[in-house]
Amino acid sequence: MDTKFMLDMCQLANAEKGKKITILGAGIAGLVAAYELEKMGHEVTIMEGSPRIGGRVWTHRFGNEKDAPYAELGAMRIPSSHNHTLHYVNEMGLSDKLCKFVTVFEEQNAFMNIEGNIFRMKDAPRIFQERYQGIYTDTRYSEQTRLFAAWLQTIVNTISPGNLRESLEKDLRSHLMDELERLDLGVYFSEDGENIDLQAFIQDNPGFRARCSKALDMFFGDILVETSHDLLQIQGGMEQLIWRLVESVKAEIHCNQQVTAIRVKENFVEIDWLEMVSCIPAFLTTFFVRFLSLYCGRWN
Ligand SMILES: Cc1cc2nc3c(=O)[nH]c(=O)nc-3n(C[C@H](O)[C@H](O)[C@H](O)COP(=O)(O)OP(=O)(O)OC[C@H]3O[C@@H](n4cnc5c(N)ncnc54)[C@H](O)[C@@H]3O)c2cc1C
Repeated sequence: MDTKFMLDMCQLANAEKGKKITILGAGIAGLVAAYELEKMGHEVTIMEGSPRIGGRVWTHRFGNEKDAPYAELGAMRIPSSHNHTLHYVNEMGLSDKLCKFVTVFEEQNAFMNIEGNIFRMKDAPRIFQERYQGIYTDTRYSEQTRLFAAWLQTIVNTISPGNLRESLEKDLRSHLMDELERLDLGVYFSEDGENIDLQAFIQDNPGFRARCSKALDMFFGDILVETSHDLLQIQGGMEQLIWRLVESVKAEIHCNQQVTAIRVKENFVEIDWLEMVSCIPAFLTTFFVRFLSLYCGRWN
């Protein structure tokens, strides 16, 4: 549904103004809720359990300078179909910072780690073949099938948990190599033959996915998102969206207040919370928090 239309509907359904509202959590959902509720004329307070604002949006900066390098520890890609997120990127004046998110599979010079050794992505499948031999060098299959299988394994190894890596290897050995051999794989290799378009392969061959183990099939579903060509990012870090939202709301944001109970009464809501004290040694913190919990706060 169009974001603006959805917000108009909310406005119509909530004509009453001036309510006092407490939002639990200063992640992006809590901040957007505060922003919209304030626009509707309500008074908002945000309680955040951790010492940090942003939740699972977390840009780590290596230094304090403006152009210091950074890494995203949480959300980093915005699929171009995520209209609601893009609505707020636009609303917060960050549209001009939107740029293509280059996935590790599109950047052939990206580094990857194979058992503690660092290789460039483009070299990984060949190295894989040399190291693991077996099905990846089995001459009963064409060179194209073997290289394609090595690419599949490389991609799965790069972004999947350990059990899926073993699952793919087992499936390849038992029947997927035969399946690959039957397919026309040439169309999925890049012109120089050194890269594959896994997106197109998975989309075009539902039969291949159907023959994979259930977990692997689900993982290939994720890969359609992970390797999509139309992912966007906010240049300079996703956290900018968080900080622009923080600047746009009047709401006070109370960090270190972890909500422990919510009781809905007839005309109000009661909340209990723990005041987390982070400036004292960890072994004392537990004691302190337990002590405080006996006097836990109460908001009406
Ligand atoms: C590693 C990683 C990568 C990701 N990559 C992407 C991506 O590329 N693209 C994408 O769209 N999404 C991605 N996501 C998902 C995205 O980050 C989340 O969907 C989104 O940030 C969730 O926002 P939220 O506000 O709903 O929840 P959160 O960000 O989890 O915020 C909830 C907040 O509530 C606080 N809280 C919890 N309990 C209490 C309590 N009892 N009292 C008070 N406060 C409390 C938490 O401390 C937290 O700050 C990724 C997530 C992770 C972890």
